[in-house]
Amino acid sequence: MGGEPRHIMASTLPVLSKKPKGQQIQSIYTSRLGQFTDSGQYYQQGLRAKFHEATADDKDHVKLSVYSPPDLARPTFEDAVSHDFRPTQIGESFGPSWSTHWFKVKLTVPQNMLKAEHLEFHWDADNEGLVWSEDGIPLQGLTGGGERIEWVLPNSFRDGKEHTFYIEMACNQMFGNAPGGDTIQPPSPNKYYTLNTARITAVNLDARALYIDFWIIGDAAREFPGDSWEKHQALQVCNAIMDTFIAGNGTREAIRECRKIAQQYIGENIDSEKVYESDKEAIVYGIGHCHIDTCWLWPFAETKRKVVRSWMSQCDLMDRYPEHRFTVSQAQQYKWLEQNYPAAFDRVKGKVKKGAFLPIGGSWVEHDTNLPSGESLVRQFLYGQRYFESHFGERCTTFWLPDTFGYSSQLPQLSRLAGMGRFFTQKLSWNNINNFPHTTFRWVALDGSQVLCHMAPSETYTAAAHFGDVKRSVTQHKSMDQDNTSLLVFGKGDGGGGPTREMLDKLRRCRGMSDKIGLLPRVHMGNTVDQFFEKLEQKASNGTEFVTWYGELYFELHRGTYTTQANNKLGNRKSEIMLRDLEYLATLATVKSKSYKYPKKDIDDMWENVLLCQFHDCLPGSSIEMCYDDSDKIYAEVFKTGSNAKSDALSVLGMAEQIDSDSRLVALNTMPWSRSELVELPSSKVIATQSKYAVATGGPGAIEIQHPSVLGSSNVSVKEVKAGVFQMTNTHFKVEVEAGCVTSLVDLKADREVIAKGEKANQFVIFDDKPLYWQAWDVEVYHLDSRKVLSSGKSRILENGPHKVSVVTETQISQESWVKSTISLSASMGDEPGYVAIDAEVEWRETMKFLKVEFPVDIVNTEAAYETQYGIIRRPTHYNTSWDMAKFEVCCHKFADLSEAGYGVSILNDSKYGFATCGNLMRLSLLRAPKAPDAHADMGRHHIRWAIMPHVGSLSAQSVRTAANFNNPMGVYALTTGSASQPDKHNTIFSSIRVKGSDSLILDCIKRGEDDEDVSRGELAKREGRSVILRIYESMGGKSRGTIETSLPVKKVWKCNVLEDDGEVCRTYGGGGSAGGVLKCDIELRAFEVATFRLQL
Ligand SMILES: [Zn+2]
Repeated sequence: MGGEPRHIMASTLPVLSKKPKGQQIQSIYTSRLGQFTDSGQYYQQGLRAKFHEATADDKDHVKLSVYSPPDLARPTFEDAVSHDFRPTQIGESFGPSWSTHWFKVKLTVPQNMLKAEHLEFHWDADNEGLVWSEDGIPLQGLTGGGERIEWVLPNSFRDGKEHTFYIEMACNQMFGNAPGGDTIQPPSPNKYYTLNTARITAVNLDARALYIDFWIIGDAAREFPGDSWEKHQALQVCNAIMDTFIAGNGTREAIRECRKIAQQYIGENIDSEKVYESDKEAIVYGIGHCHIDTCWLWPFAETKRKVVRSWMSQCDLMDRYPEHRFTVSQAQQYKWLEQNYPAAFDRVKGKVKKGAFLPIGGSWVEHDTNLPSGESLVRQFLYGQRYFESHFGERCTTFWLPDTFGYSSQLPQLSRLAGMGRFFTQKLSWNNINNFPHTTFRWVALDGSQVLCHMAPSETYTAAAHFGDVKRSVTQHKSMDQDNTSLLVFGKGDGGGGPTREMLDKLRRCRGMSDKIGLLPRVHMGNTVDQFFEKLEQKASNGTEFVTWYGELYFELHRGTYTTQANNKLGNRKSEIMLRDLEYLATLATVKSKSYKYPKKDIDDMWENVLLCQFHDCLPGSSIEMCYDDSDKIYAEVFKTGSNAKSDALSVLGMAEQIDSDSRLVALNTMPWSRSELVELPSSKVIATQSKYAVATGGPGAIEIQHPSVLGSSNVSVKEVKAGVFQMTNTHFKVEVEAGCVTSLVDLKADREVIAKGEKANQFVIFDDKPLYWQAWDVEVYHLDSRKVLSSGKSRILENGPHKVSVVTETQISQESWVKSTISLSASMGDEPGYVAIDAEVEWRETMKFLKVEFPVDIVNTEAAYETQYGIIRRPTHYNTSWDMAKFEVCCHKFADLSEAGYGVSILNDSKYGFATCGNLMRLSLLRAPKAPDAHADMGRHHIRWAIMPHVGSLSAQSVRTAANFNNPMGVYALTTGSASQPDKHNTIFSSIRVKGSDSLILDCIKRGEDDEDVSRGELAKREGRSVILRIYESMGGKSRGTIETSLPVKKVWKCNVLEDDGEVCRTYGGGGSAGGVLKCDIELRAFEVATFRLQL
């Protein structure tokens, strides 16, 4: 023992206990917190009763008058304020649904409020509104129903004098005019809204701030793990706040005292953007957003107002919250704002310049990606990026599509070609079968192109910026092995709105808490989406290998959207084809005639309208009836404009639609390959030729038609071989039809029966179609169990000519619905692939039923192929795993194909997108009958065409080409004087641009350069001279070579991106300026590559 003496410290704990103290019962002390902020029985004793220190809504201080425009009109400010306003008051009701009411508000701040800390005007009629200044500047949106009801009064109002402003009331809520609690039910036309609040309010800002403090710390007490000290401390802080408030009788001083206690947990900087200035590394990036569906439960016209309401509210918030970054997609919405609200647009432009308002997405609208054609997807980017570049000086670098119903396989390639290597989405978190396994990953297209994709782990693009959203940004993050950062996309959305003051305040507290206490993932504000992706890219270039996902991001929900609203889908397909033809013909016309002006404005208008209708609730069919009334009008306008523009171009090319008895006729082949087709002659010509049809073989261009006798004596026939059984034959096929079904289809050359033994093709079947909830959107897997075969009446011969035969059959679906289907076979045309064509006229009056047509074929394969944009996608024909089974209904474009080694069958269609292949059963989806949100979706008459195309060999470009031909039959035109005598010279122009080589190379688009000096509309810098743009894609999935040949005076050829930026110069040979010399350019495309070439003239 040694040395130092032992010191015994006296304990500070008293020796004797004075009284007992129990352990806090956590659940009770946690539940108690509600008393402080709930609206229940303790409201008056709680914090929220302290928010408003004084209010005034009497007529001396708030004078209201109103003008109600007739006929559901939505007049401009100038128009509205030019009318007489009648006095009105709180308590009056306004309607009906969709009507507009303009209120003039004359406001005098009462003496006792002139010195108040913070003054607001509160307005609530349970519907949407927009505050306008007296001189017609839109200031801020109002939501109603207790949300965003406040407008901060300008300081200039604190002079005791009367001030005037306006409120434009829209008689709809954020989600339209749903009749009850179920928002997707068709809107009620007769809703009325009562003005229940219109008052001046002096706000106790400390009380309001404490409310948010307490909310977030309370969330920590409720949501942090039970074994964490942070949870216990949060509960102590909250209870201490309540005790202090009670002890101080809820006075201003007591509230300030309470806020000091809160700071122990959330820090001191939470009242400003300074809270984000700590140098601690954040992993969650908060991004303000406002998803405004361009139409959905409201029409386009209301969206235009949702845009100004939402965006002005955000500009206002940016003035008060410098950290606020607000991300906005959809060029169309910017264009509407620019056209209808120029002052608001200027305000947005100012905020864009400051870097707070962030254009994103690079597309015209947030479009569907399953149904639009490849060229449509390209134009979404072309029109979108050109708008952003011309108005804000920059293109977008992130493709933004949070809410679209699945993502087709070529998007990464097209997005890259449009200058965007980053992609944000979220919708796959709605999958109701398999949980998508990644948060941050590389998404790879059919051709191998990739984008860096991020799906917010909070699994929403309309987060309320709750504590829980921040927490889930880590707990639900699936890519932590590579990277732990994520985006938190917050703000009221779908119906617009965007972030609220409360959300921004909550995030400040969350950040403060992370810095002060920890545990909660650290959130940061003030960064952009691009900065978030830049960091990920940096990581990738430093060696982090993000996981990959190849092919489509198939959405395991909303499969009904491939079929719902058939007319709209038909309009889309037809306009895409019309636009292709128009651009091709107009390009040739500009080459042929210097005096012809490329109809760029018409083309732009048409494209913008078609792109608009591809919005992700429009084309998929998930909007209310009003939206489809609108889209019907839009498509009609597109067809009218297109038809006129096409006539103009055709007349330059020596053709006219007007056919006289002495006209010399040609068939026009606008496809870039030769084809043979039976074309129907106008009745005026039938007598002279003694044939209803003519044969057109050749192309591209104007093809001289021939009398069908060139085909030799009749090679097609039909006869009734047994009672009710008809046999149709040509040199390709022998087809047996009984009661509307194809009971046998023999490929004569292959000596092979195509229909599965004992089965019937072209069999109509109907299913009960009641999805779990989303009627127009979903068809659920169990509908397959309700399959019912529709039995048909007897077939009869409809046409029995020397060149075409057909059999017609009527099928009663129910008392009110029927199908009249015509199965026809045309004379074989040399090597042209043959098919059995079906034309169906359907009267459809069903409720929650799904009509399909089936083709059981004698083919074995575990995978079927479907045409998608710029390629083919293969999907399982079996249900091995839940991922396979989830694809029980998939999207196809112009054909679906089931092939085995050596033989296959393609099913072509002219306007359908839903398909299923189950084993050897191919099934084309025809019509659905959902009753929400459009009670009349698809009711009425439909005309649908499809075809069964058996083929020797596996799937080839033959199916791609035949399906394109099937969708674009040759038209018959009269040669006009001048050209009539020189048919060969006439066609020189059509053969002036050709692509030779591999059959799988598809020349899909021929157009003029956007910025050519004779074409440009001046939105971006003009480019000297004239150019022709060619878009060519490899359609089969293999490296392919070909040659662009042109007799045009081409100086140089560039390979470029879809935005028409020149890339590498292509080597050319031949041509050389010699008259008629053909310039050649060899090209090589990788599998499924989309290549754009610019030919500089
Ligand atoms: Zn949406």
